[in-house]
Amino acid sequence: MFFEDLNLEGTKRLWGKQVSDLAFGEFLEKLKWQSKKRIRSVLKVDKWSPTAKCCCVCAFHNKDLTLADRSWECPECHTHLDRDENAAINILKEGVASFGLGVVRPIVLFNKIVGYSVEAFSSLLNSTRASA
Ligand SMILES: [Zn+2]
Repeated sequence: MFFEDLNLEGTKRLWGKQVSDLAFGEFLEKLKWQSKKRIRSVLKVDKWSPTAKCCCVCAFHNKDLTLADRSWECPECHTHLDRDENAAINILKEGVASFGLGVVRPIVLFNKIVGYSVEAFSSLLNSTRASA
């Protein structure tokens, strides 16, 4: 995120001359930890937003979806969506995007989500392909 732009000299000026390499390392660790914590808290909050009703592939909003529907087919892009998996990918997309960390895209094969790809803008995220 933003600590990539920091350098030790600038930090010394900002925080006082007593900032040592060791302290700077600790500072970075704290920043990283804070960032992770913030991402996690975003995920928590969004758990209660209507992420389950939005198709994670084409963003179609299925207003007729009820709690009883464990899976559904998107009328727009015809992807078969597992309720929880769809919501999880939407949450991940939202969380990652809201911090400007990158873009998460579902990988769809034969109308089924087989995983997702992550295009990272920040070194906090590793660009990767992971199975959902
Ligand atoms: Zn769709």
